[in-house]
Amino acid sequence: LQWERQVRVSASPRRPSGFTVLVTGAAGFIGSHCSLALRKRGDGIVGLDNFNTYYDPSLKKARRSHLSSHSIFIVDGDINDARLLSKLFDIVPFSHVLHLAAQAGVRYAIENPSSYIHSNIAGLVTLLEAVKSADPQPAFIWASSSSVYGLNDIVPFSESHRTDRPASLYAATKKAGEEITHTYNHIHGLSITGLRFFTVYGPWGRPDMAYFFFTKAILAGKPITIYRGHDGLNLARDFTYIDDIVRGCLASLDTAGKSTGSGGKKRGPAPYRIFNLGNTSPVNVPTLVSILERHLKLKAKKHVIEMPSNGDVPFTHANITLAMAELGYKPTTNLDAGLKKFVKWYISYYGHAARGIFKTNL
Ligand code: NAD
Repeated sequence: LQWERQVRVSASPRRPSGFTVLVTGAAGFIGSHCSLALRKRGDGIVGLDNFNTYYDPSLKKARRSHLSSHSIFIVDGDINDARLLSKLFDIVPFSHVLHLAAQAGVRYAIENPSSYIHSNIAGLVTLLEAVKSADPQPAFIWASSSSVYGLNDIVPFSESHRTDRPASLYAATKKAGEEITHTYNHIHGLSITGLRFFTVYGPWGRPDMAYFFFTKAILAGKPITIYRGHDGLNLARDFTYIDDIVRGCLASLDTAGKSTGSGGKKRGPAPYRIFNLGNTSPVNVPTLVSILERHLKLKAKKHVIEMPSNGDVPFTHANITLAMAELGYKPTTNLDAGLKKFVKWYISYYGHAARGIFKTNL
């Protein structure tokens, strides 16, 4: 009952006609930032996260403490738990589901394929079933990925480009997610928005991503490994700052049409949308490292090797024309400014974490 009360309080909006949003993956990098931004503008939020150990669980717990200081409650549970989901949808009339829970990372899939099936396929379907049965039926906004463009060599990537050559199991599960959500859209009338994020970085980021573990290694004086593509070119990524992604997510909630239910034909079809959320200016890994060196005031020890076949794609570059037109999306932070904020956060957070406290400057 205490649990139910916490869920209800967290779910209630603080502004007239505010949204009531279920954020899955709320203890994650993007989920924690989105939850906070929604709360700051007065929406009601309930988080859901299974706090898995894919990366440092203490970072997820620190994000949870920070959200809890803004009266956001995160339910400790799995998106595969149909009973838990049905209880949540019984207690709260969610207007939107922002689905960010997933098994992320492309390299981890080589050793741990089942984790991707569990969260990105089975979990997605369990969640969609709960959304389908909910009354009212919320609009569903979820994280796909730029990885669906796979080995595409026509850049920048537009939403209409082919997505039939995934380079990793992670990419394949995101592509499958797009097909699965499309099915729930046309059979069950769910309003669906899929967001193809391009390499998101920033404060409270993910320790498994290059900019993060490079920072850690450079500070510790340890060598970093840089991949050279088979064509001699360096890997390049369209790094996108977290605040830009958050604005894109909020605009997606604001513009998501309503779900129309299985009898949707009478009330018109529910929308199915896909958007790239990127930065439109790819940066290669040596440049990323030199920016980090400048902000850290330290030189990296570089170890350059041929790129192994580990699921990484050589290049990503977003065309964001569609998101600009329909969401008013416009990235505003370049990699230099964004990494400066990341480095500041990193030093502050790990300085405090080492002393058993952390600073809440999300
Ligand atoms: P993250 O790993 O920090 O966050 C995901 C959260 O989901 C974690 O806290 C994890 O504990 C939780 N989770 C995983 N499986 C779950 C399950 N079965 N049930 C409940 N909770 C579960 O990752 P992130 O970087 O914040 O990514 C958020 C979303 O955006 C993911 O769907 C990811 O695939 C997608 N995405 C991220 C990037 C990026 O660059 N960060 C790029 C493209 C797409």
